[in-house]
Amino acid sequence: MSEILVLVEHVDGEIKKVTLELLTLARTLGEPSAVWAGPGCGDAAKAKLAEYGADKIYVADSDEVVNYVVAPKAELLARLVADKSPAAVLVASTIEGKEVAGRLAVKTDSGVITDAVGLGEGFVADQSIFGGGVNVRSRVTKGTPIVAVRPNSTAPVAAAGAGAEEKVEVAPSEAARAAKIVERVKEEKGARPELTEAAIVVSGGRGVGSAENFAIIEKLADSLGAAVGASRAATDAKWYPHQFQVGQTGKTVSPQLYIAAGISGAIQHRAGMQTSKTIIVVNKDPEAPIFEIADFGVVGDLFQVVPQLTEEIEKRK
Ligand code: FAD
Repeated sequence: MSEILVLVEHVDGEIKKVTLELLTLARTLGEPSAVWAGPGCGDAAKAKLAEYGADKIYVADSDEVVNYVVAPKAELLARLVADKSPAAVLVASTIEGKEVAGRLAVKTDSGVITDAVGLGEGFVADQSIFGGGVNVRSRVTKGTPIVAVRPNSTAPVAAAGAGAEEKVEVAPSEAARAAKIVERVKEEKGARPELTEAAIVVSGGRGVGSAENFAIIEKLADSLGAAVGASRAATDAKWYPHQFQVGQTGKTVSPQLYIAAGISGAIQHRAGMQTSKTIIVVNKDPEAPIFEIADFGVVGDLFQVVPQLTEEIEKRK
């Protein structure tokens, strides 16, 4: 079996769910080695990585790796690719992950696949391209395959790995230290899961009608433990904050379940959500294009349908 490097996404020492998904995926294709960039890899974190199948954990325990924008992480991975000759490198297909993947591809003269929603034998990836317009099956044919996989592409499954720690010394190059992070601001995320990581997303569009009415969307989301999303029409109208916009110029989500209420399904919105596993639509217009990609559709008024759905879910809890 061959080694597969998995870049760990973590905040304040806490491992993000997407990393456990990547380890699960890597386990089906080889022997996963987790790569931890920065301080904070404590015993609990190491135990978690091992629990989800990491045989090795490379730890670059230095502020230097995280004090500069992205580049030191790409250098760290490039060094590990040179030293360990892994069969592939997996990163999360997040904004930062894709940036790391691109830089790593240049450094190692390798091909890169981003926005993968599945990965199989021979590192053949199911990939969403052209802003989500087309789904294709792709394989890297040059160098070390580097694949950025979208959150929620796989359910994380525990499978004990050895979890052997190996320290890695890092000294970012002068070029990698060109852009220093001077301040980090914590995003207020409240009790709901982070939008791009949530297993369920409930989104509202222009059909919701006002900022106050978004309470209906939030109630349904909370009954399901979901994140709330919004179309650009809703965020432009200031009914919901911009950071929750889903689509080409917003966030890309790929949850197990996406519920779209009062959203017509413009191509720019679809670009951010059409790889969701199951899509449920509530729209009063039977001709709305969003029905083309719906697994289940309700033609009806969201002000009737959504509260009834919330009530029913609450009853069954
Ligand atoms: P509309 O298209 O107006 O649709 C509202 C829907 O609500 C209709 O289908 C209507 O039938 C339904 N409705 C109304 N009342 C009810 C009711 N009571 N019950 C049930 N249904 C009801 N859009 C994004 O979302 N994300 C992006 O990232 C994004 N990026 C863009 C980038 C560019 C460069 C451009 C040009 C556009 C972008 N857009 C984006 C905008 C996009 O083209 C659409 O304008 C937008 O998605 C429309 O939002 P909507 O579906 O909420 O509104």
